[in-house]
Amino acid sequence: MASMPTTRRSFLAQSSALLGSATLSGLLPQPLYAAQKNPNDFVIVEGHRDIWEFNARLALKDPKQWSPLRDFIAPRLIDAGYTVAIVPCGGDSIAERGGLDPLFEGSMRTLDMLLTGVEETNGKVSILRSKQDLPTGPTPGHVQIFLDMEGGASLQDNEPEPGYNPERYMALLRQFFRLGMRGLQLTHNARNLLGQGVGEGHTGQPLSEFGVAVVKEMNALGMMVGVSHLSGAGLLQVCEISTKPIVSTHQNVRPFLDSPIELTDEEIHAVARTGGIVGVRYIADLFGYKQLVDEIEYLAKKIGPEHIGIGWLGHDVDNPDPHTIPGYGPSKKFTGVEAQTIRQHWETFLTLLSDRGFTDDHIRMIAGGNYLRIWKQILPDRDPAPTTGPSFPHFQPDRKGMHD
Ligand SMILES: [Zn+2]
Repeated sequence: MASMPTTRRSFLAQSSALLGSATLSGLLPQPLYAAQKNPNDFVIVEGHRDIWEFNARLALKDPKQWSPLRDFIAPRLIDAGYTVAIVPCGGDSIAERGGLDPLFEGSMRTLDMLLTGVEETNGKVSILRSKQDLPTGPTPGHVQIFLDMEGGASLQDNEPEPGYNPERYMALLRQFFRLGMRGLQLTHNARNLLGQGVGEGHTGQPLSEFGVAVVKEMNALGMMVGVSHLSGAGLLQVCEISTKPIVSTHQNVRPFLDSPIELTDEEIHAVARTGGIVGVRYIADLFGYKQLVDEIEYLAKKIGPEHIGIGWLGHDVDNPDPHTIPGYGPSKKFTGVEAQTIRQHWETFLTLLSDRGFTDDHIRMIAGGNYLRIWKQILPDRDPAPTTGPSFPHFQPDRKGMHD
């Protein structure tokens, strides 16, 4: 979901200081002022394409809006050269559940909305479920979706029960997995049964016993553990207990952005030590692409380009925000970066990386290659089809204490 309120903090002073000492230990040669980069030359993975546009278009009366993926979103992603978009398939925020209160039901409906949307695209979009689905290079004309729930509260069961029995909840995690969900961000901003989000202050509490069990189960199933919005204490704990790389799909770093959600130096190092990825995002009205590249340069110096990803770039002219989708709210005239297509955003951004001295190999990692690397480590070898009796390595049916 959207970032929390942010304030700008000595940003230009900070970034110019960084530029002055930007040696990157030999990582970056002197600026090259390279030719414009073509997004189609790179595997592009967007860390977090939120579902506002789905929800907004489906809320409109006009049936022409009711296939948002097929008619509006996929064409723009494909034009931009996207290989994979990571999309929330439900979550803790009510916006992630299409406005529905019930957690499990709301997330199931969001998941259905996405799976139905994919079916409507006639093969132009597919779900990335296993190592067998991993692309080996750019995929012109086709884009994959990686389903990544934003907060694990939908695994909670609100009925009273006789005691703590994680298997009751874990059954729901496995069901989402069977339906194609391959990532779970443990919390959103609030607390849930797994842990505490950053909404009550950045540091917060570590995970609950159940949160630890969920991380272990996700490791065993082949799911990507996400920490965007998780408390700092929770994040550090996840980095200790996860046996696989963990990711923050959309989170910036301090001091470039100073809000409770952003990562500290200690946290970015912890994520990198797992082999994972920090995915920075473009913040409208606060960031230009130069500043985003400053932040990436800072991260490259700290943890290396092999641990950097992109949460999102600026909104494009056809999807600035749901309230400006034609028919949804008041119309707005777009200028500057907002008036650009997704493709133009990526051209600008990739070219700036190159101008700054990042090599094509570095750009390949940052644009999406790092995700391919960790998915090779994390994902199941093949998709366990729901109807063929998958073997879930961690599954130990425990009837004790369960309701009949
Ligand atoms: Zn979010």
